[in-house]
Amino acid sequence: MYDLIVIGRGLSGLLFLKQYLDTHSDLKVLIIEKSKKIESRYISSWQGPGLLDLKKEYGIHADKAYKKISIRNEEITINKNISPYSYNTYDYKHVIETIFNSLKDKVEIIYDQVISVKEMYNEVNVKTKKHTFKSQYLISSTSLAKQTLKNNKMLFQYFVGTKIQIKDNHKHDTCQLMHFLQSNNEVLFNYNLPFDQKSILIETTAFGKKVHFEDLEKIHKKSLATFNFAKIIKKEKGVIPMSVDHKFHRTARIINIGLDGGFARPSSGYMLLRAAQWSIINRNTNLKDLVFKEKKLISFLDKIFLKACYYYPGLASSIFVKLFNSNDIASVIRFLADIPKLYDIVKILMNTPKKIMINALIK
Ligand SMILES: Cc1cc2nc3c(=O)[nH]c(=O)nc-3n(C[C@H](O)[C@H](O)[C@H](O)COP(=O)(O)OP(=O)(O)OC[C@H]3O[C@@H](n4cnc5c(N)ncnc54)[C@H](O)[C@@H]3O)c2cc1C
Repeated sequence: MYDLIVIGRGLSGLLFLKQYLDTHSDLKVLIIEKSKKIESRYISSWQGPGLLDLKKEYGIHADKAYKKISIRNEEITINKNISPYSYNTYDYKHVIETIFNSLKDKVEIIYDQVISVKEMYNEVNVKTKKHTFKSQYLISSTSLAKQTLKNNKMLFQYFVGTKIQIKDNHKHDTCQLMHFLQSNNEVLFNYNLPFDQKSILIETTAFGKKVHFEDLEKIHKKSLATFNFAKIIKKEKGVIPMSVDHKFHRTARIINIGLDGGFARPSSGYMLLRAAQWSIINRNTNLKDLVFKEKKLISFLDKIFLKACYYYPGLASSIFVKLFNSNDIASVIRFLADIPKLYDIVKILMNTPKKIMINALIK
């Protein structure tokens, strides 16, 4: 019998264990992971004054830290110096390996696929393809215990990315955060991360009511064709739910975290900093009391952004352009990094197109 089973050696489970086992070193913990291979992809996060320091708390190093970002639509290109903040990009594989290695002596791991989970009065039974395990509590960031969503104002952030090696030298100090493309029924943009003079990740992203990978691949191909590239280094793709209905949920013994636990921000799909912060806050919480609660201020503004993208996708670029064009980029970053003050929210509301935001609020 284990004290805790964690399904998946994934991001949210490891961030949590890293903090929790510091204060609960006597717990008998088992991780069940279906795949030995760690996915190859990049995840990014804001860093800077007042924000949780991912290097200090988790020992993870960024592949790249951008001090400059750019946002572009048909009318305008905004280049912003965000210093003393930065937009950091991490190799997911490095993050998982680093945190997992630091936990190696504290947890057991088996590579097997969980096929069902059954909650009993005093234990949880976890059935894998080969065995059955028993535990007091279960933490899962997989969709085994998926909640039924009302699908109310739900968007999917879906994206395809290709890391390429380019022939010409490229300016590589700026993260091209959102370079909008023309679309009336989806929010559509390229998100480009230049790693050095010769390599860049081109990611084409849509916020849509449905996922249309085939169409997105075609648009992505056109974006790639604008670069004179020598070879493809790697590819990635994904879908992240953006919904205010996708809430944290738990039972007496099963705690859902990560993407399936509703951790992703409804307005952006980002989760890394939020999951890292939540894990630190809950280092001393008893497993029976572990919950995730969104801060009301963040949730209020996230809902307006989500509804604006949902009802007015063709106008979304003007919202984001105005947002990032603001004089106080620190307020915007604190909002995106989950730690806004009331005056940050007020400033953001003042700096975004009022008519669209008010219409979205009352929809
Ligand atoms: C390509 C991509 C880019 C992203 N970029 C960002 C970003 O820049 N910033 C950000 O904040 N967020 C980003 N996200 C969103 C989010 O942060 C990541 O998806 C994050 O990895 C989610 O963490 P998780 O713990 O929910 O799931 P994962 O990290 O995906 O972990 C789940 C684990 O469970 C395992 N598993 C699944 N089912 C089973 C089973 N039945 N039995 C056993 N094991 C199982 C999987 O193999 C996996 O290892 C991105 C997502 C994707 C897909």
